[in-house]
Amino acid sequence: MGKEFVKEITSMDVDFAQWYTDVVKKADLVDYSSVRGSMIIRPYGYALWENIKGELDDRIKETGHENVYMPLFIPESLLQKEKDHIEGFAPEVAWVTHGGDEELTERLCVRPTSEVLFGEHYKNIIHSYRDLPKLYNQWSNVVRWEKTTRPFLRTLEFLWQEGHTCHATDEEAHEETVKMLEVYADICENILAIPVVKGKKTEKEKFAGAKFTYTIESLMHDGKALQSGTSHHLGDGFAKAFGIQFTDKDGKQQYVQQTSWGFTTRIIGAMIMVHGDDRGLVIPPKAAPIQVMIVPVAQHKEGVLDYAYGLKRSLSNVARVDIDASDKKPGWKFNEYEMKGVPLRLEVGPKDIEKGQVVLARRDTGEKIFVSVEKLEETVEQLLEEIQTSLYKKALNHREENTYTAYNYNELVELFKEKTGFVKAMWCGDRACEDKIKEDTSATSRCMPFNEKAIGSKCVCCGEEAGHLVFWAKAY
Ligand SMILES: [Zn+2]
Repeated sequence: MGKEFVKEITSMDVDFAQWYTDVVKKADLVDYSSVRGSMIIRPYGYALWENIKGELDDRIKETGHENVYMPLFIPESLLQKEKDHIEGFAPEVAWVTHGGDEELTERLCVRPTSEVLFGEHYKNIIHSYRDLPKLYNQWSNVVRWEKTTRPFLRTLEFLWQEGHTCHATDEEAHEETVKMLEVYADICENILAIPVVKGKKTEKEKFAGAKFTYTIESLMHDGKALQSGTSHHLGDGFAKAFGIQFTDKDGKQQYVQQTSWGFTTRIIGAMIMVHGDDRGLVIPPKAAPIQVMIVPVAQHKEGVLDYAYGLKRSLSNVARVDIDASDKKPGWKFNEYEMKGVPLRLEVGPKDIEKGQVVLARRDTGEKIFVSVEKLEETVEQLLEEIQTSLYKKALNHREENTYTAYNYNELVELFKEKTGFVKAMWCGDRACEDKIKEDTSATSRCMPFNEKAIGSKCVCCGEEAGHLVFWAKAY
């Protein structure tokens, strides 16, 4: 029975895209809706998002930000106030043209992001240096009319948080941009066990309307990169477009310096593609909605269920624990919670009860461990820690094994023909070279990493002086 069940998902080495689709459906994360490209996030998927959101929200508040809520609609005239911004987003904007039967005098856009809404509001509430900094964050949904969609990775509507801040100086805004990138990196590495490369986007890849964009990039199991969070220094571009000015301490009028930063449900797609395997999801313990699933064996026998519920009560002191006491066969349950990526399974039957022990099975390694009931709580705590650490290390090894270096153009092209992964190469800063690399390899510049040494002085493409080391990759 076990084998048949597993057959229902495509092997990741046979067809990674199909494997992904199978997993998100069979692990009960999402269902499709009747609107193309929209997804229903089911309770198990939503619980996962709530855990990630909770961790991130704590950090957003710890760093001094306040949550607010902006409207869903943006009048067309407002969206058009910042030129680069509207050019960047126009192709993906959904418009509301009617209210009931009546045509609106001005079209309303469904927010693709809320810079302009914050811009308009900030103009009204910021007047003096005493009003700064303004550190706002919004948890919301946004809509982007994508042509090709995949659950979590690219959907018409997705959930996210967007931070929008105003500062008196460029330095303060820069500090904020870095600080929030570090928060995102912390969530990825310490909660989701996803190692990231931190760096700066090129001009071509930066956020529409930003002065510059910082990003964290991660590598999926199939060797493609995924942008996992971005933090933008907006400079005073939006401030000038919206007239957000304050009187400084010397009585002079100044434009504010702004940042914005966002983290989305897309990260769930990353988590699936970094840790999953042919048996389904593998969820890092810190993000897992259920950390330990108790499966009673021979539960019809007297005392077994009572005993299992007793274990659930005591374990709930140290872990998020659940029990499946349904009348489905234990074999079915084993497969089900492996598919759902529950980090630890606890099996307990009459013989175990007699011996005063239980069996713990690790989702990441498949290892089975016999534990005496006295030591259960501390062992579970220890194992959850171990799984968390080991998933991170495994992902880091995978990234290192799939990071290559190209010293000339031929090497770069050949690498992208034969391998998937990050390729490090020097770049002159010229858009033409970046475009040519994309055309010849379909790889894009992911970022110019912080803290990485140059590997030469010439552009891998044109041979001119090159000041930037770039991580290139095919990306989601
Ligand atoms: Zn060049």
